[in-house]
Amino acid sequence: MRPIRRDDQGPAVAEIRSILVSLDLLEPAPGADFFDPTTEHAVRAFQQCRGLSIDGRVGAETWRALDAARWRLGDRSLYHSVPDPLVGEDVRALQERLLEMGYDVGRADGIYGGRTAHAVTQFQREVGLTADGSCGPYTMHAIRRLGRKVVGGRPQWLREVDAFRQSGPNLVGKTILVDPGHGGPDRGVVVAEGELRWSEADLAYDLAARLEGRLAAAGMRVHLTRGPMTDQALSDPERTRFANEIGADLLISIHVDGHANPAAEGVATYHYGTGNGVTSTVGERLAGLVQREIVVRTGLHDCRVHAKSWELLRLTRMPAVRVDVGYLTSAGDRRRLIQPAFRDQVAEALVAAVQRMYYPVELDVPTGSIDVRTLRAVVDVPATA
Ligand SMILES: [Zn+2]
Repeated sequence: MRPIRRDDQGPAVAEIRSILVSLDLLEPAPGADFFDPTTEHAVRAFQQCRGLSIDGRVGAETWRALDAARWRLGDRSLYHSVPDPLVGEDVRALQERLLEMGYDVGRADGIYGGRTAHAVTQFQREVGLTADGSCGPYTMHAIRRLGRKVVGGRPQWLREVDAFRQSGPNLVGKTILVDPGHGGPDRGVVVAEGELRWSEADLAYDLAARLEGRLAAAGMRVHLTRGPMTDQALSDPERTRFANEIGADLLISIHVDGHANPAAEGVATYHYGTGNGVTSTVGERLAGLVQREIVVRTGLHDCRVHAKSWELLRLTRMPAVRVDVGYLTSAGDRRRLIQPAFRDQVAEALVAAVQRMYYPVELDVPTGSIDVRTLRAVVDVPATA
């Protein structure tokens, strides 16, 4: 779908405006169906508070977020519906309340799936309501009343850390999904230089392939979301589904950035999180390791780690990060990205980050210190100890 953007007009714009009005991001103006600068401003504000990419346009991901945002907790009864689960902001609010109370709903992804229904059933049983897994007025009232009493930690994320620790320090047998961004007709950022054309899709695939070989050599089961020449572009929900279906332990998505300003440069890493303090602890740790290892080993400018609620990070059930390795639009970054030796350095930084994820904290090592060529030997030590 072509993004709906500034100067567009029609019923779709009217609908977007009405949702933005209901969210108090826009002044109501009856009958308005024109995407004016004020509308664009409101879209940006919405994207910012949802942790989406801020471009002021309504593409597929922003539309799904807007559509889901209509629902407030209490607007409707919530129940587990198969195969078309209820999706919305109200479901996400419910999941966050349940998480705060210590129920295991997985990630607060805004989808009323089996795990959410199970957590609701548990809650209902414990407070003496009919345990049917649906969230009608009585259950809603009970959750509202009790939810406020619970303060403090985020049990779900502590569980995630625990599960991760328990899986042991050995890379052998763990499954990782490496996701080269874009592909097929979608080339991502493209820069022409004389006769040459550099594309993000090609560079991301090359980086992924270098990473794949090294991780496989360390004993991991490695999957790639796409080959070098996929004819169809994969959507983020498709990549997410694949990651969940193969039961990956980790997901690393690789992109290269681009900007109209040629001075923009550097590496940034993203993990799941929202503006209101909900974050994936394990994802945040992986993002921090990826970012530091790349910065220390390559000297790319440090554009830091950021929390985002992109679907790829939010709907995946394993710790997931996305790294944007340099700007293809920066002459300095580009000169480095096109060198195979530089891409090897990046791949080694990523392997070192993955390895450090599985080290117990007390065995962790300084950034830049893992020699990935001897990784297998390093890995086997804690495994046999
Ligand atoms: Zn990209």
